[in-house]
Amino acid sequence: LEDSPFSDFLGFELLLQDEDRELLTRVHAFMTREVEPVINDYWTRAAFPHDLLPGIAKLGIAGLAYDGPGCPNRGALVDGMVAMELARVDPSMSTFMGVHGGLAMGSIQLCGSPEQRERWLPAMARLELIGAFGLTEPDVGSAISAGLATSARRDGDEWILNGEKKWIGNAAFADLVIIWARDEEDEQVKGFVVEKDTPGMTFDKQEDKIALRVVQNAQIHLHDVRVPESNRLQNATSFRSTADVLRVTRMGVAWQAAGCARGAFEHALRYTTGREQFGRPISSFQMVQDLLVKMLANVTASTAMNVRASQLQDQGLLKDEHASLCKAHSTVRMREAVGWAREVLGGNGILLEHHVGRFVADAEAIYSYEGTREINTLIVGRAITGESAFV
Ligand code: FAD
Repeated sequence: LEDSPFSDFLGFELLLQDEDRELLTRVHAFMTREVEPVINDYWTRAAFPHDLLPGIAKLGIAGLAYDGPGCPNRGALVDGMVAMELARVDPSMSTFMGVHGGLAMGSIQLCGSPEQRERWLPAMARLELIGAFGLTEPDVGSAISAGLATSARRDGDEWILNGEKKWIGNAAFADLVIIWARDEEDEQVKGFVVEKDTPGMTFDKQEDKIALRVVQNAQIHLHDVRVPESNRLQNATSFRSTADVLRVTRMGVAWQAAGCARGAFEHALRYTTGREQFGRPISSFQMVQDLLVKMLANVTASTAMNVRASQLQDQGLLKDEHASLCKAHSTVRMREAVGWAREVLGGNGILLEHHVGRFVADAEAIYSYEGTREINTLIVGRAITGESAFV
């Protein structure tokens, strides 16, 4: 346990192979040295730090769990811990990687043909091509499986896409966007890789977000966008295929939530040992210690659940309800923890300078995306009762 960072209280990192722990150390060093000093400035300007991409590419963490061409194939457990490590310093960069390496690469890995994996995954793993994932629409979020309205019509060797997507992370600068659309003929949801600059696809950057301001979300307009049949994900035959991708990436978000809580906890602990009131460090007050320990308990409980679910994923046993339980639980515990972190910083808790304010704001987005607490709760509820409360 001496080898583990102090906030890995029960030594979960000791479950990793040496080479995976070494990767985690490199990710942590990169995030604290290169990202932490500059990220508040990008957050304030709602800008993306493109200059950091070569350094992230060198870490070799895109599509970490996948065994497709060019992918690192290191398994779900270390993949989850890396997502936590990124979020521990900056939830936006963790989200950027979750969208690119999780949702976009995952769609190609899980729903693409061998040729399609070969065509896109190696360049995406090297971050030479950046991906986005377009599922949500302006009028349909939680009810997307039934309500997805973007249409796809076959026309010879091509498909014609029409519709609108909202909230699509990375879309503003992505090289390719996975667009989920409903086939007008068989009414099934299919996935299409739409490449940058395809005529008819335009973007409006989502402005004025109060969370994850570094992530470049966009609304996408699709007007008679022609996509070759070779860009249709060959193994995506219904919404079930989309759900298969989301099952895996929801685990990534559960890990991000644990990382966001952990980062806020670490900043809070450091602050309380340095800040004095009534002639003593505030960390010596019982009520402050109570909040610190509750934060640590939340981080540790979320991590424990996520570790077990990722182990199941590595064994091919992860179910939708497992990922949903982890996502719902970790995000609720995160939201509590960042609130407590902000509390022990007093007024300084709302200043970007001390970082905790950024974690508080970013937590609000993580709480809602990839299925809200309610929807993930209902997925678990359906599994344990046999009754669907939402279809
Ligand atoms: P709504 O579905 O309108 O829900 C509003 C409220 O109603 C919620 O509290 C919800 O839980 C509740 N509710 C809805 N139905 C029920 C029910 N049956 N029972 C109980 N309560 C219910 N999407 C993408 O496709 N790609 C992305 O890259 C992406 N990135 C995102 C990034 C950010 C920062 C955000 C905020 C969102 C992103 N999303 C993305 C969209 C995200 O997945 C949706 O916001 C989410 O699924 C919720 O949908 P909604 O916002 O439309 O809320």
